[in-house]
Formats: sequence, C-alpha cells, structure tokens
Amino acid sequence: MHCPFCSANDTKVIDSRLVAEGDQVRRRRECFDCKERFTTYEIAELVMPRVVKQNGVREPFDEEKLRAGLQRALEKRPVGVEAVEAVIERIKHALRATGEREIGSRVLGELVMDELRTLDEVAYVRFASVYRSFQDISEFRDAIDKLRHPSDPS
Ligand SMILES: [Zn+2]
Repeated sequence: MHCPFCSANDTKVIDSRLVAEGDQVRRRRECFDCKERFTTYEIAELVMPRVVKQNGVREPFDEEKLRAGLQRALEKRPVGVEAVEAVIERIKHALRATGEREIGSRVLGELVMDELRTLDEVAYVRFASVYRSFQDISEFRDAIDKLRHPSDPS
C-alpha cells in the first residue's frame, strides 16, 4: 500500500501479528523511500448485505423481522427457540458468505423456505403460501411436491 508520508507506491511489512483475539492482523510497515514506519490493521469484511425488495427499495437486513416471520410460520408448532435461533444464524452466515453488498429479497425468501422445509413441514407450507402468495393451485402443488421430493432440484 501507499506510504502515508510520501505517497511512495511500495512499502514492506516488517512485523505482522494477530490482535483482538485473532480477529485482526496488525502490521508494521516501512516505506522503501522515506523509511517512515506506520501501522495497518486488517479485518475480514463480514458485512450483512442489504436486501433489495421486489419494488427496488433497499433496506438493511432486519434480524427481528426474520425472527418474527419465522415465529409466525412456526406458531403452535413443536419447534424450540434454540432451533429457530440456529436457523437465523445459518441464514445470516449464508448471507455473509455470499460476499455481496446487496441480495434480492427473493434469495432471502428461498433461504428461509429451505430451512423451514427441513425444520417443520407445516411451517414451510405456511411461510411459502404467504411469501409466494400462490397465484394458482399448481404453484401450491409445486411447494407440496418439494416436501415429498426434497432432493429434486427444480
Ligand atoms: Zn514514504
């Protein structure tokens, strides 16, 4: 990286160590030209992408909204709080792992449906019927078919 003192193009790393319990790398650098030394910190960028709704509106990922949606689908179903929290963590992990700054709300919806399909079939159908707002009976049948053939990629 550029030297902040003289703007020379090239600097060398003279020391590198983990800090903040391993979440950061601290580097001492030295400029080849002016010999000044400076420190940089490197952290992994794990930013939650923004959600782009169907109408093009972008909004921050809202964990509470996701939790509320899951709880609505799981109302009176025999699924514990821990299982719901695990689903939320997996979805957040999947979103971060995309490395994207924005994702379509549809992608998020599909992630939720995949999780619910293995967690609780009734909740899956409930969520799918709201989320997809089935246009006709054949779409509903497709959703049910996915339950019967979870390995079917269609
Ligand atoms: Zn320099």
